[in-house]
Amino acid sequence: MLDTLTIRTQRTTASRLSQLDASTLEFGKIFSDHMFAVDYHDGEWQEPQIVPYGDMAVSPANSALHYGQAIFEGMKAYKNADGEVALFRPLDNFHRLNASAERMCMPTLPEELFMQGLTQLVRLDSAWIPDGPGSALYIRPFMFATDGFVGVRPSNSYRFMIFTCPVGLYYNKPLRVRFEEKFVRSAEGGAGYAKAAGNYGASMFPTKKANLEGYHQLLWTDASEHRYVEESGTMNVMFVINGRIITPALSTSILDGITRKSVLQIARDWGLQIEERKISIDEILKAQAAGTLQEAFGVGTAATIAPIATIGYRDQDYDLPPSGPDSISKRVSQALDAIRNGRSADTHGWMVSV
Ligand code: PMP
Repeated sequence: MLDTLTIRTQRTTASRLSQLDASTLEFGKIFSDHMFAVDYHDGEWQEPQIVPYGDMAVSPANSALHYGQAIFEGMKAYKNADGEVALFRPLDNFHRLNASAERMCMPTLPEELFMQGLTQLVRLDSAWIPDGPGSALYIRPFMFATDGFVGVRPSNSYRFMIFTCPVGLYYNKPLRVRFEEKFVRSAEGGAGYAKAAGNYGASMFPTKKANLEGYHQLLWTDASEHRYVEESGTMNVMFVINGRIITPALSTSILDGITRKSVLQIARDWGLQIEERKISIDEILKAQAAGTLQEAFGVGTAATIAPIATIGYRDQDYDLPPSGPDSISKRVSQALDAIRNGRSADTHGWMVSV
């Protein structure tokens, strides 16, 4: 329990909680009653506050809107069977947020400010966390430039905020994905390792094209040769070939996913073989042809594990075996859920009570 920092809190007088229908939750559409906000100017973070969730005024000239000086995080809080609430690896999100901030010339946050804002907000709105399997509170911390100045230079003022959304069970429909050989999500030396807003805006056009062709997501490839796989949509990606988990090694073009490192840790605990290295389209297609490509799946906070059923490459679709109950993806997914919901021991100390 973290309680030291005083956060001025203005509670809502018109809670929307009674309107919450936990059976029809659509991701990202419903926001809990409160939000956390703290401004940065004159070289320091100012007084933090929690206020009712709502619209706000910003300068139309701020460089988040014009030049993309904006970063974010995505994480979840879970409720166990006794109604206790815990965050999953929040310090990992904190460190990644600060890595993103550095890349975008934005100020870093002190750990206490991030953790206190997070825990006090989640505690205040904990009644918004739905019960039921797969339910959680999705948490969106983010920071953006606020100077009223339209020149291209780092802003001098910023706002860091957190809001939360109740989310229900994520239905993992088997994914159809295809290799992307024209557009790239990011390049070595770019900002792909940061959760910078512009990375996502730029990925929408190629993703929309793939959607129109009947694919859910793209398998992004490297910017120089379009030969090696990088990520799948907004998830890290893993392949199981001959019983070994192969996943692209981290680089400046790949996001250091918290689900990725958690899955790898669990697989290591189980004694599975893991290879973090480049994996080419060619290697994947050859394994598929030889029948040694057993599984492919995306890993990320929203879906946890999203099994891939079909991979498209140059007008041809390649099917993977259906992911059964003994698949690595299924077993790891269940293991992670059990830790998050307090049903199995948190041996790595990933859960932080609020
Ligand atoms: N890659 C990208 C590009 C993402 O946006 C995300 C989601 N944050 C991930 C991977 C998965 O990261 P995490 O497991 O931390 O959610």
